[in-house]
Amino acid sequence: MSEDCIFCKIANKQVLSDIVHEDEHVVAIKDINPQTPVHLLIVPKIHIPSMDELRPEHSALLGHIHLVAKSLAEKEGLEDGWRLVINCGPNAKQTVFHLHVHVMGGRPMMGQMA
Ligand code: 5GP
Ligand code: ZN
Repeated sequence: MSEDCIFCKIANKQVLSDIVHEDEHVVAIKDINPQTPVHLLIVPKIHIPSMDELRPEHSALLGHIHLVAKSLAEKEGLEDGWRLVINCGPNAKQTVFHLHVHVMGGRPMMGQMA
């Protein structure tokens, strides 16, 4: 838990959010400013600021996040496709420095990756 971190507060239920999934390791919430019809964020319960701070002991957590993403995509009916996004650092325009994975879908993407 990092004191000033909004996603730590969301994961600890100190701040309300629209939680669509929770287990021992992660919560998944609806993005407050969705960019696609389905835009969820998978947020680990432990505070990792970004991909730059990943360590080998986080590998199981990362695998788990991918399985949660697949299950959410199924639940949301994203059978036409979906995208995972992880922004890391200023060039990627990361704005919340608590690692999170965007699950996006519900319409065709604009085409380009960046
Ligand atoms: P980033 O740019 O860091 O990858 O994405 C952060 C995402 O978190 C943005 O899509 C933003 O809309 C979302 N976000 C920021 N603050 C909150 C919040 O308090 N609640 C929810 N549900 N989403 C948030
Ligand atoms: Zn945090």
